[in-house]
Amino acid sequence: MKLREIKEGKVKLKIPNVEKSEEGEVFYNPIMTFDRNISTCVADLLPEILNKKRNDIKALDALSATGVRALRYIKESEINTWANDANPKAASLIKKNLKINNIEMKITNEDANIIMRKNKFDFIDIDPFGSPIYFLDSAARSFPKEGFLSITATDTAPLCGTYPKVCLRRYGIESFKPDYYNELGIRILISSMMKMFSRYEISLTPYLSYSRRHYFRVYGKIERGVKRVNREMKEFGYISHCFNCGWRGASLNQKCPICGSKTKFCEIYLGEIQNKTFLNSLKKKMEKRMFVKEKNLIDKIREEVSFSLYYDTHYICKKAGKQIKKIENIIKDLKESGFKASRTHFCPTAIKTNASFEELIKFI
Ligand code: SAM
Repeated sequence: MKLREIKEGKVKLKIPNVEKSEEGEVFYNPIMTFDRNISTCVADLLPEILNKKRNDIKALDALSATGVRALRYIKESEINTWANDANPKAASLIKKNLKINNIEMKITNEDANIIMRKNKFDFIDIDPFGSPIYFLDSAARSFPKEGFLSITATDTAPLCGTYPKVCLRRYGIESFKPDYYNELGIRILISSMMKMFSRYEISLTPYLSYSRRHYFRVYGKIERGVKRVNREMKEFGYISHCFNCGWRGASLNQKCPICGSKTKFCEIYLGEIQNKTFLNSLKKKMEKRMFVKEKNLIDKIREEVSFSLYYDTHYICKKAGKQIKKIENIIKDLKESGFKASRTHFCPTAIKTNASFEELIKFI
């Protein structure tokens, strides 16, 4: 394997010297540096979140590839991290990367599920090709009383309604593709994670959830306790959507109350998917490290109003048979009428608001 050396964050990194990662080769995607920058800032905050001394936190980069995340967690956030990858070429490259950075770290070449079943970790990062779902049962068993989880999902097509049956098989919820498909997709993912953890009386409190390019990323706190899990389950509810007139409601309606057409519906988690206090602390870490683009995303998310399932204004205008109205004007009008409204990072033409579909149509 021909290698070249690059720098990411504060670590030196040997990566395969190829244009595009090939199957069987060690994977490195420079586009994900954005996301790894965010993860490193999250790792900075782990002692506060977990109420533990930095030295006592045990982290796992479960699917490590070049080892870049683990190396950055150690070098930049001083979090004791274990790197694992099932690909033997990856494990041997991680060893090389350790050496050039003068870092000590545990490295294994195993199925991540085995490592998590056999060991306890306070922080687990799961960054697979495709869905993280295959690793979550083992992650649940690996956390002590409290922990923190970060996951990537790149299987956005099933989650966002392009392949509803795949989503049903994989996540236990049949997806559909409304105007708010990105948020529906990430909520299906979160719902499925919560249901999986609830079996072990473990709750998942989302701290940061975002969609970007081809992937979703979710960060959340893990806590054991029946009461928390029961409270979390109360935040589940139905969402019904009419593809004929565009109506949607947070209730189970098999027929649209406006046009009478058959709807699509599913039961998902409708509670908070961001923790604004955490995002304020995260923003400060990003300012300190001068991560401008990453801070811009966090700012957008901080400014979003908390109501679930955004409206794409282009879709709503089309359904209402009206000309597309400027998004700023819709937000202004809604606010002047006493509603809450904001843009959302999920979609550049969308808004979040507590106005119902029927109320929003009036503004448009
Ligand atoms: N986290 C890396 C980063 O930020 O650059 C990228 C990880 S890459 C998307 C997914 C990795 O998972 C690959 O290196 C692959 O070899 C590894 N992998 C796939 N299945 C695995 C399994 N069951 N256990 C451990 N590693 C696995």
